[in-house]
Amino acid sequence: MNAARRAEYLKLLGIDVWLPRASAQPALAMGQPAAGQPAMLQPAIGRAPLAARADRGAAWQALQREVAQCTKCALHATRTQAVFGVGDPQAQWLVVGEAPGAEEDRQGEPFVGRGGQLLNAMLRAIGLARGANVYIANILKSRPPGNRDPKPEEVACCLPYLMRQIALLEPVLILCVGRIAAQTLLGTDAPLGRLRGRMHRFGELNTPLIVTYHPAYLLRTPADKRKAWQDLKFARSVFRELTANPERH
Ligand code: URA
Repeated sequence: MNAARRAEYLKLLGIDVWLPRASAQPALAMGQPAAGQPAMLQPAIGRAPLAARADRGAAWQALQREVAQCTKCALHATRTQAVFGVGDPQAQWLVVGEAPGAEEDRQGEPFVGRGGQLLNAMLRAIGLARGANVYIANILKSRPPGNRDPKPEEVACCLPYLMRQIALLEPVLILCVGRIAAQTLLGTDAPLGRLRGRMHRFGELNTPLIVTYHPAYLLRTPADKRKAWQDLKFARSVFRELTANPERH
């Protein structure tokens, strides 16, 4: 992406254009845990070959049908429709949010409201685009009324669907946007501020996972967009390292 276009996206994000100069930090610098240990300690099992993953279309569609018909928790009674996710099922990036809001419930697609526009801008700032090498899904597939936080029993019912999506996608990198997604996938109640800035590992495949702010939070707290931009640059540098040297990770 050329500098002018990146500056345009950063402007859309509400980030001063001088910020990219701060990217002179070494790759993975944010990934160094506080103890100074290297970011990537545990080996990940590599992605299955493309041909093997291409065979997963039927399983993906079956899962999609299952989610559409799910009545495991009470949210099925109030939703317009289940929101499975959007994007390329071969994507290397998986973005995980919290749950559909009113507009997502209406349209059947994650992150389509104002927060979604900001998420699109965030993705574009690091050279990504909705639908192109990015899959977007949520912890919950049904909208909690009034946009309240998901209840533990709703997460317990719905999380296995996301786990199956992750097993089929085998993303190179998971980007959790917001506290609920991060705490749920990492099995912690640590505050988001403590989860940012380093690379975690998720699940049996040890998938690299990075945490940043939820776009809705950033709309309410624009001063933290700078920190989100740091997170995005960190995620981009980790992704580049992972894809340039997959055997090392
Ligand atoms: N917020 C989320 O976390 N996900 C959506 O899909 C929409 C809003």
